[in-house]
Amino acid sequence: MAERSAKQLGLSKADLPNSIIEVIATLSKAGFDAYIVGGGVRDTLLGLNPKDFDAVTDARPHEVKDLFGKRCRIIGRRFQLAHVYSGRDMIEVATFRAPPPTGNEHTTSDGMIVRDNVWGDIHQDFARRDFSINAMYYEPLKGVVHDFCNALDDIKNKTLRLLGHAPLRIEEDPVRLLRALRFKAKLGFEFDEELSQQFHDDNWALLDQVSPHRLYDESQKMFTGGYLVPLLPLLFEYGAIRHLIIYPPEKPSRLVNQVAINTDKRIALGKSINPAFFYAALLWDNYLHQLAKFKKKNMPFHDAQLQAASKVIDRQRIKTAIPRFAEQFIRDIWVMQPKLANPRVKQIPQLAEHPRFRAAFDFLLLREQCDDELNPLSESTNGMGEWWQTYQTLSEKQKQQAIDSFA
Ligand code: ATP
Ligand code: MG
Repeated sequence: MAERSAKQLGLSKADLPNSIIEVIATLSKAGFDAYIVGGGVRDTLLGLNPKDFDAVTDARPHEVKDLFGKRCRIIGRRFQLAHVYSGRDMIEVATFRAPPPTGNEHTTSDGMIVRDNVWGDIHQDFARRDFSINAMYYEPLKGVVHDFCNALDDIKNKTLRLLGHAPLRIEEDPVRLLRALRFKAKLGFEFDEELSQQFHDDNWALLDQVSPHRLYDESQKMFTGGYLVPLLPLLFEYGAIRHLIIYPPEKPSRLVNQVAINTDKRIALGKSINPAFFYAALLWDNYLHQLAKFKKKNMPFHDAQLQAASKVIDRQRIKTAIPRFAEQFIRDIWVMQPKLANPRVKQIPQLAEHPRFRAAFDFLLLREQCDDELNPLSESTNGMGEWWQTYQTLSEKQKQQAIDSFA
């Protein structure tokens, strides 16, 4: 039976934010079908707080635009989507899509999807979703959940299962391998038998054909979801890391583990996260390695730093297209490390005012906390992580005293 009573599943309209209700109600009143779909339904059923709510409808994007007017923006080329602003929230409103026709100009010779702006009905839309638990459709006003594939059983049994024939679904979109690891970490689910067999080298190799922009987006979701600590070992164990960063180590370094802990903690506290910070940690050993090489070339230290940073970042860009501002952020964090660890007394006040001081200081402190100096290429932080931490809490007068007594 595909239709289930929301009430019996413990769902109530009253638990949903007004924004999603308003969007669904407006579409319904205009005569369209409208559902909550994806992570919003899944997480609500699991008693988690959904990050956001996505809606899906039979209204075409221009019809959604007509309905919501200025509150709606149409985005995307490969997939046209409507972003509808309601109160302080943004709801993504997608139109039902059909699975792409195979074997023609929509797919590459490897079967990968390149274009699929083909509208469909709810059943077609269902069939092109990734995991069963992401493919439930909830009508909050009617109090009905549509479950076409026994996803509710998978929720109950904590099982992650791809819809359709797993090898084909991965071939179609290898990013689903990364999504599988992400949901395993986030939800603590196990893979079903068929999915668990998909993490082999031939499938991972398909990831190298995915655009670096898409991989960066996906890595951003992985690094800023608030569950990096359980996800990190999976990225290594299942062989994903080789396709995400250049020269990956066998296992995460102490620093990378420490930054993962800190990242999740910040997210739990509602603090902002720059995903590039995690890249700075992931690529740190590689940077140190390059720096040691450039230092031997008899150039000024600052030049060696910049050249080493550029080399690492230029190579990484081929894997994941880190935006320019984020690249600069990574470079600044690295270059500032020795400046903070061995400050010239006169420069202390300016250093503390540097726009990147906060990030570079956080990085220094994390290095200190995990004894990064045990790393043979790394240099001592000289206990300056703690020093700067205290320094920031001082009054102007005390700061001057701290500087005077520094040497
Ligand atoms: P999160 O809580 O991380 O946002 P989510 O399930 O909402 O999880 P999204 O990336 O926001 O994940 O995607 C929304 C929905 O779109 C998914 O639940 C799934 O139904 C569908 N989807 C997303 N990416 C894919 C994909 N690569 N292949 C098939 N379906 C996908
Ligand atoms: Mg989502």
